[in-house]
Amino acid sequence: MDLNGRPLTPCSLEKAEQNLRDGLATMTEDGVLHLNYRPLAHRRIYRQVQRRDGWMCAWCGGPGSTLDHVIPVCWGGQTALDNCVIACRSCNHSRNNALPTTFIRWTGFRPTHPVIQRILQNEASALNAAEHGLQTRPLSSCLSREEAQVWVAYHANQIERVRPTPPEEPSTRLKGDTKPFGEYFVP
Ligand SMILES: [Zn+2]
Repeated sequence: MDLNGRPLTPCSLEKAEQNLRDGLATMTEDGVLHLNYRPLAHRRIYRQVQRRDGWMCAWCGGPGSTLDHVIPVCWGGQTALDNCVIACRSCNHSRNNALPTTFIRWTGFRPTHPVIQRILQNEASALNAAEHGLQTRPLSSCLSREEAQVWVAYHANQIERVRPTPPEEPSTRLKGDTKPFGEYFVP
């Protein structure tokens, strides 16, 4: 059951146990799982972003189909139209939790997507707003399971503030990052 008491399709036992362990849901005596987050909102935003952006990666311009948070969720970025773009798996995966400016430095991409442009113009203030949102957002307003977990982690550990993992250099090879033939050729 979701926040509004609407019945959802039954999930697997493992998923239910995981939700209970993570504090993302409660179980009533009759065995009904009550979720503390909105599993359908993520899908709704994804559909809206997909309709707006088509199937093109906002970073590299190649074909893409995944939902990418421009300000990553762990930095407080929300699952909302003004923070989400379509990205290819390669960009989404290699960027991980890196901020847009860091990712652009790594890759040399010049994204022209208006959502990315607007955030790049003032990344510091976008980040402040996102971080403030992370502090004040009640669990019930979390849009995705990912966000809900961040919120739980933050509030379970208020003294030692949960910080996003520092971005590392991407381990996957990026498009355009091809080495000259000589480096591969072993005589
Ligand atoms: Zn891409």
